[in-house]
Order: sequence, then C-alpha cells, then structure tokens
Amino acid sequence: MSECIKEGELEELEKEVSLRLRDLLKSLVIDIENDHNTEETAERVARMYINEVFKGRYHRQPKITSFPNVKQLDEIYTVGPITIRSACSHHFVPIMGNCWIGIKPGSRVIGLSKFSRVADWVFSRPHIQEEAVMIFADEIERLCEPQGLGIIVKAQHYCMKLRGVKESHCSMVNSVVRGDFRHDSSLKQEFFELVRQQEDSYS
Ligand SMILES: [Zn+2]
Repeated sequence: MSECIKEGELEELEKEVSLRLRDLLKSLVIDIENDHNTEETAERVARMYINEVFKGRYHRQPKITSFPNVKQLDEIYTVGPITIRSACSHHFVPIMGNCWIGIKPGSRVIGLSKFSRVADWVFSRPHIQEEAVMIFADEIERLCEPQGLGIIVKAQHYCMKLRGVKESHCSMVNSVVRGDFRHDSSLKQEFFELVRQQEDSYS
C-alpha cells in the first residue's frame, strides 16, 4: 500500500494515529496529562508503528538492484540466519525469529545483503507467520526469478510468551518451497540439509 501514499500524507497519518492513541491511553485510564513517563507515549508509538515496526506498509521497498546471471550459475546456495522481526496481526506483539533462504539461481541475481533488506521490509508489518513467508517468497521470486526457492522461518510469538498460554520457549517453524525445490525431492533435501548445517554452526 506504500505506493498509494503521496508526499506529505505520512506526516498527516502520524498526527492522526497519535491523536487516536491519546484517546486509547485515556480510555485505559492512563494519566497522560500528568504522568511524565506517558505524556509523549502516543506520539512515540505512532512514530514507531509508521516508521519502524509497520514501515513495510507505509514506506516503499528499499531499492534492490538485480543483475543478469551472466555466468549462468545453477548450483544452490543458502543464506541465513536472517533476523526476522514482525508483529502478530491478532495482538500486535512481537514475532521474533530467524529465516533461511535457499536459491537455485535463474535469470537474475541479487547481492547477499539484499535478502536481509527485503526480509526487513516484508516482515515489518502486522502478520501471521504463514502468510508473511508467502509474501517474502513472492518478493524474492520477483527480484531473482530463481529456478528454485526455499524459505524456512523459525520464530517465537510473544502472544504465546507474554500472555495466553505463556509458553516461554515454544517456536513455530514453517517453510515454502517453489520451482525445482518443489518438484525435485533431492534438491529440497539438499536445501534442508544445508540449512541444518548452517543452524548447527550458528548455535
Ligand atoms: Zn497473536
């Protein structure tokens, strides 16, 4: 939706959100007039949502240049762990975790650090994990046009840690596989094996 936002509208939106947050805090009987700790909380939270934790909705994707795969590389490689920060759509509390990407190159390639930039942009929105991973895969496919793509996300959901069942160490793992990773089970196996090795060396 960031494409629909015109010059100057983001500032207007920030003002509107902070006014609504002021009302919300008042409804929660938080004395924002007299408590110096919360007197600017509404403005701070509005800025945080629009420019940080939900910036993927309001700011455009950082510019990612892709290059033709001139050497016609076709061996798979994996990138990770990439830190994932998001917020659950249901409770607006953090989802924190890691992501691993496997690529069998196709017609285009992007620099390694660009995967982190795209992940940051996609995940900085309210999400449910399964949908976020699909959207991330769509973006990587659009940028790299790979022959095969695999993505694994392992994340902890604070709506399970902070509240509700209050499970401290439970995580959710999900994956998407596309193209050759989907059709060729040995390639898919190789991807999961490479990620397992990466995970072992990381922990
Ligand atoms: Zn939740």
